[in-house]
Amino acid sequence: MNPLRSMILAAARNDTIRSLVATAPVSRDVVSRFVAGETTADAVAATRRLVDSGLAVTLDYLGEDTTDAIQAANTVDAYVELLEHLHAENLADRAEVSVKLSAVGQLLDEKLALDNAARICRAAQAAGTTVTLDMEDHTTTDSTLRVLGELRRTWPWVGAVLQAYLRRTVDDATRLATEGSRVRLCKGAYSEPETVAYPDTAEVDKSYVRCVNALLAGEGYPMFATHDPRLIRIIGERARVHGREPGGFEYQMLFGIRPEEQLRLARLGNTVRVYVPYGGEWYGYLMRRMAERPANTMFFLRAVMTRS
Ligand SMILES: Cc1cc2nc3c(=O)[nH]c(=O)nc-3n(C[C@H](O)[C@H](O)[C@H](O)COP(=O)(O)OP(=O)(O)OC[C@H]3O[C@@H](n4cnc5c(N)ncnc54)[C@H](O)[C@@H]3O)c2cc1C
Repeated sequence: MNPLRSMILAAARNDTIRSLVATAPVSRDVVSRFVAGETTADAVAATRRLVDSGLAVTLDYLGEDTTDAIQAANTVDAYVELLEHLHAENLADRAEVSVKLSAVGQLLDEKLALDNAARICRAAQAAGTTVTLDMEDHTTTDSTLRVLGELRRTWPWVGAVLQAYLRRTVDDATRLATEGSRVRLCKGAYSEPETVAYPDTAEVDKSYVRCVNALLAGEGYPMFATHDPRLIRIIGERARVHGREPGGFEYQMLFGIRPEEQLRLARLGNTVRVYVPYGGEWYGYLMRRMAERPANTMFFLRAVMTRS
């Protein structure tokens, strides 16, 4: 892994750095480039703007690594409130939610996370939309896939996420590419050991393409999450080879990253879904975005230095 990326991801786990960054006056301005706001109203307003421009949305109420059952329950409440608003505002056919199991109690107890995720799925069903389970670091992969399997017994539309940097993923992609199965493929955003993940970006890209082929060859609904221009081109080509119409798969990108490309792909008739994070717990999310691109980190540091 790129040393700068490892350093930023390590800094993300340091409590002193966390409190410095989280309280720096400038941070809020920088955060607003990647995060839609703190409240449900902010999230709904951002969704409205994106939907009106022809994009679909998946919303993430920020928070992760919860070790407190009350906080986990509060996260569920936030999702339920959001889903009610999406329904009331007629946005539920274009906007779903993404959930991190660690935000709803996975570190405390898998059963608690399952029950909490089930509450969110019930609210999504009532609102007329879907849920995707984000994937976190590799120590949680098996647990997350187990919870996914349980949820899909009642709500077969629950989406999975697979990370191309994991050596295991092409097998998971083949296994999950069944009828009706919604699967998001991303490169992977955590710092992982070489024993489980490809250390080299070229290897990750090759794995991504193998997984694209596995998902397109199967019966499921692939959701290709990447901003990488080369991969986006390959996905389009492979989709044509596999006879997939634009409605038979989708592209996904993050809020604030390559917005013109999001619109370009949508104008070509593709479904393009934007991942919209919101809420006060933006620190971990922001640090992963910094780690992905040194230019973002420079943008952030420059902003801090100009203000101080
Ligand atoms: C919708 C969506 C959902 C995701 N869900 C998960 C998940 O559940 N679990 C998980 O581990 N990861 C998730 N990710 C993150 C993903 O794993 C990658 O870390 C992230 O998408 C960057 O990889 P990339 O494919 O865009 O390629 P990269 O090689 O990182 O980037 C390719 C190009 O895209 C542009 N770009 C990429 N990132 C940025 C950025 N931060 N700022 C500005 N430009 C950028 C640049 O032009 C760059 O050259 C998700 C990503 C998306 C888009």
